[in-house]
Amino acid sequence: MNTSPLAGATQDEMRKRNLGSLLKHLHVNGACPRSELTALTGLNRSTVGALTAELEEAGLVRSEQPIGRGVGRPSIMVAPAGERAYVLTIDVGVVHASVALIGLGGSVLAWRELPHVPGETPRKLIQRASRVIESLVATAADGSVCVGIGVSVPGVVRHSDGLVRIAPNLGWIEVPLGSVIATVLRTTLPIAIANDADLTAIAEHARGAARGMSHVVLVSGDVGVGGGIIVDGELMTGAGGYGGEIGHMVVNPIDGRLCRCGSVGCWETTIGEQAVREALGDITETDVRSYLTTVPHGDPRLAEVGRWLGIGVANLVNICNPQAVVFGGIFGDVYRVVDDYVAEQLGKSLSAPVERLVLKQAALGPNSVSMGAAELAFLPLLSDPLGHLARCREVSAA
Ligand SMILES: [Zn+2]
Repeated sequence: MNTSPLAGATQDEMRKRNLGSLLKHLHVNGACPRSELTALTGLNRSTVGALTAELEEAGLVRSEQPIGRGVGRPSIMVAPAGERAYVLTIDVGVVHASVALIGLGGSVLAWRELPHVPGETPRKLIQRASRVIESLVATAADGSVCVGIGVSVPGVVRHSDGLVRIAPNLGWIEVPLGSVIATVLRTTLPIAIANDADLTAIAEHARGAARGMSHVVLVSGDVGVGGGIIVDGELMTGAGGYGGEIGHMVVNPIDGRLCRCGSVGCWETTIGEQAVREALGDITETDVRSYLTTVPHGDPRLAEVGRWLGIGVANLVNICNPQAVVFGGIFGDVYRVVDDYVAEQLGKSLSAPVERLVLKQAALGPNSVSMGAAELAFLPLLSDPLGHLARCREVSAA
């Protein structure tokens, strides 16, 4: 009996899957010798040659003659054609928004920031962004195709249709952002909308501190504490897309503080920016992150924040058993100061899940949210390169 997962798959489905896995490898890892693609996919040389030729004809990859003069016949290099297929990303922040065109392979082709005017309606914001988007798209290479739209919001988002349930720092409640964007941009391209911390986790997993790992917890944020949990290489979203709200894990319900969510003693109230500022003693700096770079390692002012950070991390490690916990946003800077306090708490926890655990700072900068939004927006292309590209060409021609 054939128990292979490919049993029953038609030749066409196999071809689609192989094209997708070749393109995904090039998208994540960049240019690569064709011989390596053969070894990685387990397909024979002529099949890989035929598949890369199809991707090249569609304009998704480029073949380059190798420059080296090593022994034997050098393999042809295959690279993603980042300037030919790109996604549009919109990062809705509290003070600023940014839009970017990100090419296949992850290169930022164009990027522009615009202010997010307080109290502005979502439609007004997207209308202003659309004028910037138009100017960016005008700079895209001739014949290039937009293959999707990825959007980041600091809030709780329903993945199926991009309904923003609540984004407290934007004052948004039940905003149908997916349909607002589709209407204002007059597009039928797929629009993927997700929480900013989830997208940071996706970016750090694809291209940053957690590259190559399958099980990762990201702790990120500033005023709010967000999280992204990668399980078996995929973002854990939960049934409705609302999973990963680690900031609202209740750690101190008895004498903790009231949280923005209405609960008492959430993790966010013990380690968020407000708690950090108070622990440091009424600092005047508006940018707490740049102040944190001047705080010495082990500074006792942050001991309590460090212990609460450790308690929350220990809970997450016991639940998820990740290979790494990655600290992003303000927590990258906080962790550098309080790593010993965190280690002390983990030392009191179950030992088995901690055995191979790595704790590290995020590797990508403030662009990580847009990079994550791009990864999400590229998914349909990577699962069916030629079919999806054809549909996007039809949309852009309409
Ligand atoms: Zn809360």
